[in-house]
Order: sequence, then structure tokens, then C-alpha cells
Amino acid sequence: MKQLPQHLTFLVVAFVAGLHTTACPAQNDENSDPAVAQSSAASGDAASALDLPPIKIDRRATIKREDWFVRPWIMHAPAFAIADNLYYVGNQWFASHLIVGEKGIVLIDTPHKEHTYLLLESIRSLGFDPADITLILHTHYHIDHTGATRRLKEISGAVAGMGAADIANLQKNSSTTFTHNRENETMPYFEMFEVERPLEHGDIIDLGNMAIHCHHTPGHTAGTMSYSLEVTIDGEQHNAFLFGGPGLNFLKLDRLYHEGAEEEFTATLDYLEAQDIDLWLGAHPFVNGTLGKYEKVLQGIKPSPFIDRAGWKRFLLVKRRDFEKLVAQKRGEANK
Ligand SMILES: [Zn+2]
Repeated sequence: MKQLPQHLTFLVVAFVAGLHTTACPAQNDENSDPAVAQSSAASGDAASALDLPPIKIDRRATIKREDWFVRPWIMHAPAFAIADNLYYVGNQWFASHLIVGEKGIVLIDTPHKEHTYLLLESIRSLGFDPADITLILHTHYHIDHTGATRRLKEISGAVAGMGAADIANLQKNSSTTFTHNRENETMPYFEMFEVERPLEHGDIIDLGNMAIHCHHTPGHTAGTMSYSLEVTIDGEQHNAFLFGGPGLNFLKLDRLYHEGAEEEFTATLDYLEAQDIDLWLGAHPFVNGTLGKYEKVLQGIKPSPFIDRAGWKRFLLVKRRDFEKLVAQKRGEANK
């Protein structure tokens, strides 16, 4: 676990920005990505010479969905510590979290395989070696949470864990893996992997100095798992919680729907409301505003914006309201 030179991120971004310039003819300049150009320049000495504005860390709004796999480098986000031993290593759209314990290193969720190199670079930029990962936990089996797992397993030999009720669906590798995302659009194919550790509600992963608790929170999928752990920020303890299945798209897309999903999701919301949570993580960075919070951390705002009990309560209220609206809509359509 050797610390890599600080300038490596710059080199990688500069490299991909260079590739991009080569790949795009001059007449396509309107498609060029100013954020990439800025981040490459702002990371080096050129920034002061060009007097560029500060890099905007949360750039999701500027990234077009159709570019996810064509220009994967635009998905890059910085890696950083949220709390002691808890790190964000995801990208602009897809979250991954790294938990470094005495007894092992745990990664929660992997992005699409096209973004593997961004994940590896994020882990390395923090001074950790992806080869040292011992366990890869998954919130659920959809491709945007499992897409790079096979590659990470090959690099590290890590064990994969997933909610027991999701494993059969993963193995089917059907359209429910979410590989067929929209009409006339196919996401890149899925690289299958073995799940050695089926997870049940109440399972505890002991990392020596810390423990990850597994919570079965179905609805989004039948086997969606959430994870909680006690963490420390500036010497104070907090209850961190990652809700694994906030997406309501299972109500909108038939292929993501499973029998009993509404009842499950209602029970999950009740369960979440009963938890004592003051640091909530995002299954996607935009769910809890991960990157916006990090921008505030960089501005020196204390206490850490990640300590956000009110934001969590608000999230649950909005989620229930949106969920009930969608269920009512679905019932209305069924009765037509
Ligand atoms: Zn999903």
C-alpha cells in the first residue's frame, strides 16, 4: 500500500484529454469537454498562467448519458476520505466506497467495466493497492453496481458478497441485470462473476477495528442490501449508512420489476425511518450529493457536510412521496 505520486491523477487526466483531442476533428470542437480541459490544466502549473476558474467537482449535469462509454474519462471524480477509514472512490454517476479495516479492505459496489481504470486510479490515489481488496460487497445485482467486479476480483482475488435473494437474478444475466437500459439502446455486455458470500439481514463483517452491518432492504430488487458502520470524523463517532436501493425505476420499467416490490419498498422505508443515521452515503453520488458535499469540505466547512441527519430525513420524506405517487399512477394505468 504505497503512496503514489500526487501528480499521477494529473498525468492520467492529461493523457485521456490528449487522446480525446486526437480523436476529435477540429469541426467537432463544440463536443469537446471543457471540464476535462480545465481539470488537466488546473492540476498543473499551467492553471495560474491561464487563470482558469476552479474545477467544478460535481459535473454530472454536464455529462450526456450517451457519452458514458464512448468517452469514459469524462466520468472521473476525485477520490477522498469521507471519514476515518471510509473513502469515496466512485465516479460522477456511479458510487463506490472503500472501507479500510485492520482485517481487510472492503469495496462496496463497482461501476461499469468501462470505468474500471478510473476506479483503480481512485483507489491508488489514496495510497491503497486494489490488489489488497479482500471483499467486494454489492448493494444489488444491477450492472451499474456490479459491472467491474469480475475485473476487480481478478486483480485482487477478493471474495464477492451480495444479498442472497439477488444472486439467482445476477446469474441469469438477463435483461434484468439492466444491460438493456432503454428502447433501442443496449448497454455493454456483462462480465459474470461468482458470488462466494451470500448475505442475509443481520450479517456482520468483522474488520477488527470496525464492523460492517448488513441490512436487507428490498424493493428496488428482491435482494437489495444496505450497509452500516460506525465511523469517526475529527474524533467524533457517527453512524454511517448506505441505502442500497433508492431508485424507483423498478416501478417504471417492467423488466426491473419483481412481484411484491411495492410491499417490500414500503417495509424498507419504514425500516429506514427507524434507524439512527447521521451520515448517509449514496448508492449513486447524486442521491446524497456526495461530490457537492466534498466541494464544501474543500472550502473548509465544519463540521463535515457529510454529517447530515436532516438531509437523510428529508430524503426519506421525498422518497416516500415520490414512491406513493408512482404506485398510484401505476394502479391508475392498470385500471384503465
Ligand atoms: Zn439498480
